[in-house]
Amino acid sequence: MAVVKRAADALRLFTPGPLSTSRSVRAAMDLDLGSRTPTFAALTRELRAELEAIAECGADFTVVPVQGSGMFAIEAMLSTLVGTDDHVLVVENGVYSRRMADICRIHRIRHTILALAHDEAANLAEVERCLVERGPFSHLAAVHFETGLGVRNDLDGLIAVARRQRCKLMLDAISSFGALPIDFTSGVIAAAAVSANKCLHGVPGVSFVIAARAELASPGPARTLSLDLRAQWRDLEHTGEWRFTPPIQVLLALRQAIREYRADGGRAMRYRRYEQLADRLVDGLTRLGIHAVIDARWRAPMIATFAFPPGCAVEMTELHAHLARRGLIIYPSKLGSSSFRIGCMGEICAGDVDDLLAALGEIVAHGTATEAAPAPGTRPS
Ligand SMILES: *Cc1c(COP(=O)(O)O)cnc(C)c1O
Repeated sequence: MAVVKRAADALRLFTPGPLSTSRSVRAAMDLDLGSRTPTFAALTRELRAELEAIAECGADFTVVPVQGSGMFAIEAMLSTLVGTDDHVLVVENGVYSRRMADICRIHRIRHTILALAHDEAANLAEVERCLVERGPFSHLAAVHFETGLGVRNDLDGLIAVARRQRCKLMLDAISSFGALPIDFTSGVIAAAAVSANKCLHGVPGVSFVIAARAELASPGPARTLSLDLRAQWRDLEHTGEWRFTPPIQVLLALRQAIREYRADGGRAMRYRRYEQLADRLVDGLTRLGIHAVIDARWRAPMIATFAFPPGCAVEMTELHAHLARRGLIIYPSKLGSSSFRIGCMGEICAGDVDDLLAALGEIVAHGTATEAAPAPGTRPS
């Protein structure tokens, strides 16, 4: 096997963020700009317009930037746009939707948690029954693609349920925006949180809320100073300036990342690229006896959870060290000891997937050879 020697700055990140970024995206950061200059105001305007175009959200929505990673946008969205008399149903089917519930609890936002299985898409019948029986609810809060295990919720189904039950949808679209379609014209989505550092391949440090203008224009309580989306929006509209120091270099990188996203063919092609990498990955892993944990119905190519075959004892710290020596970074799974996650987001290519498969092949061969007690039924008879 050809061992690829990579420079320390050329790690391949098969992770859910931060991701591998292109050299040109990182090079775009090599510039200082004053934040109160016309040049920077134009950059902000351009990025907001680009994100609106990618979202295909129409003129009823606008994009408000938030300094920080994806969670900052989610917290800004919920803490600003849910009113004191509102009641949110949080559809909890993974670690990220649990965080939406945490945000509600911390900000004393009235909410109910519908706790569902984490290894499958949210059951829409249960969501609807809960809305009917435990309501009335003003909002439904849900995650589009639960990155913790790699579970894709049926967004169109959630939209249909929310419409029938007259709820507004607050969406965590952090790991789907830019790759999966989101129907902003449905009239049901009040706001969605998105990030520079997932499917758009920017560097981490800025996130955005795509919000209905009517939501931003309506009065509401400010629960925090720095995450107050309405104040951020008002200042941007009136002065063109951010209230607090913007992440200038991160925004310059995002502009370059969006240029590359467009040059690559936009959302459909970004999805196709992930799909091709994920297919190659799943084929190779299947040959090694490593299987995807989540049913194919609910998977999406951005990231998936895999497990070693029964009887293949692999020490996880050894696995991560073995891969890291080859410049390959994967994350453990949220499921437990013998599983792990592999993502296809970011600037990785088929050759990188092949390198990862080769390195995992070595581990499987080694793991099975030293294994003591295979699980029942796995030993050839
Ligand atoms: C990455 C991600 C987030 C945000 O996490 P950060 O660490 O703040 O970037 C939120 N929701 C989902 C579904 C994600 O994948």
